Amino acid sequence: MTPIPIEYENLHLLNAPFFDEYKQCFAKSLDTGWFILGNQVKSFEEEFAAYCGINHCAGVASGLDALILALKVFNFPTGSEVIVPSNTYIASILAIYHSGLVPVLAEPDIHTYNIDPAKIEECITLKTKAILVVHLYGKACNMEAILTIADRYDLKVVEDCAQSHGAMFKGKKTGTFGDFGAFSFYPTKNLGALGDGGALTGNNSSLMAMVRALRNYGSTEKYINEYIGINSRLDEIQAGFLSIKLKKLDLINHHKRKLAALYQEHLKDDYIKPVVHSDYFDVYHIYAIRHPRRQEIREYLSKNGVITEIHYPVPPHHQKALKDHLKGHFPISEEIHRTTLSLPVSFCHTESQIERVIELLNAF
Ligand SMILES: *Cc1c(COP(=O)(O)O)cnc(C)c1O
Repeated sequence: MTPIPIEYENLHLLNAPFFDEYKQCFAKSLDTGWFILGNQVKSFEEEFAAYCGINHCAGVASGLDALILALKVFNFPTGSEVIVPSNTYIASILAIYHSGLVPVLAEPDIHTYNIDPAKIEECITLKTKAILVVHLYGKACNMEAILTIADRYDLKVVEDCAQSHGAMFKGKKTGTFGDFGAFSFYPTKNLGALGDGGALTGNNSSLMAMVRALRNYGSTEKYINEYIGINSRLDEIQAGFLSIKLKKLDLINHHKRKLAALYQEHLKDDYIKPVVHSDYFDVYHIYAIRHPRRQEIREYLSKNGVITEIHYPVPPHHQKALKDHLKGHFPISEEIHRTTLSLPVSFCHTESQIERVIELLNAF
């Protein structure tokens, strides 16, 4: 008997536990007839700010827009440089271009896959204005080291929290360390909507007021436009769904951590596993192992009914869109992109499914 395939993720199953509440929420939206910037967005913003432990949250249309708006608010001179990790998802780098700024890539630490604070300092020039850190795979960056550097060189800090909802460094949640935290609620994220969505978190009320204006055509009151803004609003209906799911975010993260702990404990040491350290509360948006025979392992698992992913197969500086813009060699990033393999670790996977993946991997 061939076992039932183990998918990498399944968005239907992931959302199934919330269907009843989602349906009530949708019916309520139809009744009220209010679809843009109403009470549901306001409530979700308050709930998510409270969850993170910060004063303000502003919903926007996507994670990319959250990053763009965070960078725009500072009004840096054109051509200013923003330091960003070389192994991030391309959105972090695109946001810097879309804000009229110049990305400068810093290599990650080969063990944590997060930006290496020592490498940040090597990248600082007179034009550097900000550091865009990415809490990749759901592990927080070393924010102590990063804030120290930012302080010393008077740089702004934007956190890309698209993969780190609920992740912590020394007991403090990501999105509360820098000037802004930028979140995505893309359906596959730890806190995912049923469509696109994003948010910025921050403590500075005047900067946040500007974000609220910028997301809505630069308008502070109806038909009064103070800034050259854009249209990037979180939908009412998505905010309603997100409020429902937010109540279960800790449960989702706890489940993913439990599955990750199984891999950590039982996977044989031929595989390079994520590092675990008591200062870091990891939420495993992605559980990535590394192995030089990544492709063979991936095919072997697939033949045995286990679907894996690669985050990410091509480093940003090798992407067609960017390779003429991003000069330099990034050997650590290339090594990670060449060897990384993401194993199933979602809210809808069971422990016995993960045990099956481990059994297969240990037999390889
Ligand atoms: C998903 C993601 C984004 C972009 O979020 P969208 O909502 O898809 O725009 C940005 N950065 C990282 C690291 C991501 O994983």
